[in-house]
Amino acid sequence: MTELTLVKGSITEQDVDAVVNAANSSLLGGGGVDGAIHRQGGPEILAACRDLRASHYGKGLPTGEAVATTAGRLTARWVIHTVGPVWSASEDRSQLLASCHREALRVAGELGARTVAFPAISTGVYRWPLEDAARIATETVRATPTSVEEVRFVLFDDRAYEVFAARIG
Ligand code: ADP
Repeated sequence: MTELTLVKGSITEQDVDAVVNAANSSLLGGGGVDGAIHRQGGPEILAACRDLRASHYGKGLPTGEAVATTAGRLTARWVIHTVGPVWSASEDRSQLLASCHREALRVAGELGARTVAFPAISTGVYRWPLEDAARIATETVRATPTSVEEVRFVLFDDRAYEVFAARIG
């Protein structure tokens, strides 16, 4: 059984095997979680992302997919980059958000990661409503068979923490 846990804080400070990055499809960095990971992890992560772009993702990493790199100077061993969907009121993109969680867990399992930290993917610049994102994230992780032993949701502020706490308890 995978244990779901919750902490308030920064994804960059987590003592886990892998941290999930809410990346953008360019893989070349951005704000929010992405910016924090690159800032703290150092240039090795960006170099690995550039290599991935050159070798596999010339058109960018598609939304809902996930790929791993080194974690550079972070405590974690790997960063698993995934691209969340931008919230849309007119189109149901929840399967893409679920896919981010499933694919990140699949990659984590392949790496042999036993502990994985997730941010609240798509709830920042991509504007996904927090309650709905928390529902999709927790339901998907619970429904995905994986060798990962702990999935830790890392929430940056009180409100996000409370919303996830209502789901994990
Ligand atoms: P997205 O583009 O997928 O919306 P963001 O990085 O903009 O991703 O935001 C995702 C969520 O992560 C937001 O709820 C934001 O408040 C939160 N966040 C921002 N910085 C950090 C951090 N260092 N650690 C964990 N969560 C963070």
